[in-house]
Amino acid sequence: MIALDIGGTKTTVLFSDKDKLLEFEKKYGEIIKESNKKQKYCVIPTFFKESREKFDEFFSFLKSLDNEIISTFPGIIRMEKVEGEWKFRLYSKRFPFMIGEYVDVNFAVNDVYAFAYHHAKKFFKDAYNRRKSILVIQIGTGVNAIHMNYYDYKELLILDKIFEAGHITMRQNDGKCFCGRKGCAELFISGRYLEKLGGGDPAAVFRDEALKKKFYENLASYLSSLVILTAPNKIVFGGSVAKSLDTVLIHKLVEDRFPHFKIHLNIEYEKDHSRLSNLRGLCDLYHRYKKGFLS
Ligand SMILES: [Zn+2]
Repeated sequence: MIALDIGGTKTTVLFSDKDKLLEFEKKYGEIIKESNKKQKYCVIPTFFKESREKFDEFFSFLKSLDNEIISTFPGIIRMEKVEGEWKFRLYSKRFPFMIGEYVDVNFAVNDVYAFAYHHAKKFFKDAYNRRKSILVIQIGTGVNAIHMNYYDYKELLILDKIFEAGHITMRQNDGKCFCGRKGCAELFISGRYLEKLGGGDPAAVFRDEALKKKFYENLASYLSSLVILTAPNKIVFGGSVAKSLDTVLIHKLVEDRFPHFKIHLNIEYEKDHSRLSNLRGLCDLYHRYKKGFLS
């Protein structure tokens, strides 16, 4: 099996067989940015977003290496049953030439679903947590979030749902989002916003007290709305921005914004910026889907 985690700029390709990684390196050696033989993965630029020809050529090559391909995609993936078979229709701004088209892979989901499944699997392994719920938030170039209870996790209910939590209106009429709407949360808390705030360097925001305060105020206001709505027991941050986040500060700011009383919310916080979490979640989600969703 070959598992891909496709991002807007970088794609991680994980192989179940080391020889296939070596074959892949023979063809794409020049563009490989990072390779890990022990964990059997490599990282390439998402060059195949440039045209339909490049996209088709890349996937045909993967299929020549292995007949089982699974992938995350940025954007919306709709699962549809066509003549008794599940198919995956893609709606992504990153792949404009594929909008509304089926992707020819064995399984596909948006990356935040894979990330959420990875953390839900760990969380719900503990039977005590099965009365609780988990909220995962990915903050990278964009923003998205998924909230899950044990039943959602066990029955794969997330696969029937579309999550677009980055596009909740945060400030009416303030700023135009790429999605075509105005004032989306993503405009005020994403990596793209940090880059703008830091004058081209997102990390600069976390070194400057005034900029940092501005960002955390936006983030806390967004998070407290999600917390009021979903009442999670655990929050996991992922995406490239996660590594810079101060979860102790976030916890305090969210509690300060809770309506009526500054009560202790008993929310556990975690950050995860491992490159392989999306892929681990994708593989687990695919195995679970094969077991119980195909029938
Ligand atoms: Zn938007």
